[in-house]
Amino acid sequence: MSSIFLPVRIEFGMDSSLRVGSEFSSLNCTKVMIVSDKGVIDSGLLDRMTKSLAESAIQVILFDGVRPDPDIACVEKARDLYVSQACDGILAVGGGSSIDTAKAAGMLVTNPGPIAGLVGMNKLTNPLPPLIAIPTTCGTGSEVTNVTVVTDERHFKAPIVSSYLIPKIAMLDPGLLLSLPPNMVAATGMDALTHAVEALTNNVENWYADASALEAIRLISQALRPATANGNAAELGRMLYASTLAGVAFTLARLGLVHAMSHPVSGLARVPHGVANAVLLPYVMAFNVVGNPRGYAQVTRALGVAERENEVATAVAGVKEVVKLNHQLGIPKSFKALGVDEELIPLMIEDTFKSGNVAINPRRTTKSDVEKIYKAAFTGE
Ligand code: NAD
Repeated sequence: MSSIFLPVRIEFGMDSSLRVGSEFSSLNCTKVMIVSDKGVIDSGLLDRMTKSLAESAIQVILFDGVRPDPDIACVEKARDLYVSQACDGILAVGGGSSIDTAKAAGMLVTNPGPIAGLVGMNKLTNPLPPLIAIPTTCGTGSEVTNVTVVTDERHFKAPIVSSYLIPKIAMLDPGLLLSLPPNMVAATGMDALTHAVEALTNNVENWYADASALEAIRLISQALRPATANGNAAELGRMLYASTLAGVAFTLARLGLVHAMSHPVSGLARVPHGVANAVLLPYVMAFNVVGNPRGYAQVTRALGVAERENEVATAVAGVKEVVKLNHQLGIPKSFKALGVDEELIPLMIEDTFKSGNVAINPRRTTKSDVEKIYKAAFTGE
């Protein structure tokens, strides 16, 4: 069975973000809280949007306290500001951290907390206030997904999943990515690739997800290297489109072992989400190939790699291509190279198995499998 429910309007185009004021007017909003972070604000990306909001006579309150891998305190502060200022709409501008903070803050406005009671699948009972998301990275797809990830007191990245978390409107403006540093283009692009590969190859069957994932992989294989090297609007635009497609894919079909294992690495060792996924992706693909050779062979073809003598060999060629891609993008081969403490592995294994993504991984996975994969990803062997 394949079904699709994505209640988000997607507006893609150069300068599309300039229309944000009229979009909020059409949602009958008069006082909007912008949720963003210092890096995005210092890059001047909000200026064009505040002008557009002012032209539509919409008041603006700024929450600039977003932190990478947003935690409960950050989300609650944003919620408190929204409530104390009597806002009636939310604009998220930034990467996944800003969009996820906006989603989680909006969720707390209309749903009784605490956050711990909302973690997991479909625990929200009420829709969020009107939310428009404007991504400035090309990785998470959060502007179209039904997920927000909030880091708890134990440094566990807790996913909250509900169709109420899908923004009302996603405005995709490639020009906003021009200031994104090359290493962030690379890391967030690999995040998008990971979403697409996992949604395509896991045990959840959904044709709409597969079509989106395959197109995302094809686009990323063509655009990520030049987008990282040259950073022009055309290539960044293709990456932005691809990351949204990958977000659509995993909203419909969920993810797999890479995400189950990368969240603990980000939560416990503060490795950026895209980098953690990029490092783990080839190791997990190599482990998973026997579980779904057909799916991984499709990945290989979408990556533009030639067919081999049989399906398994074709699938394995895709793993090698991802290793090469990481190398070309300057992504380290191991967590050791990133200074992550190997002593964290037992805690990471424990947190991996709290994720629902292990059960849908294409190959049945034991604790000893996860330990072996972590050890390989730590040493780079
Ligand atoms: P991010 O939002 O943490 O941003 C990383 C850095 O890039 C920040 O310092 C930011 O200031 C800077 N930045 C962003 N855009 C910029 C631009 N255009 N110019 C200059 N600097 C810019 O990074 P991310 O990888 O987009 O998001 C990661 C977060 O997203 C993690 O918390 C992860 O769990 C979450 N995530 C959510 C979903 C979802 O569906 N909800 C999916 C994947 C990941």
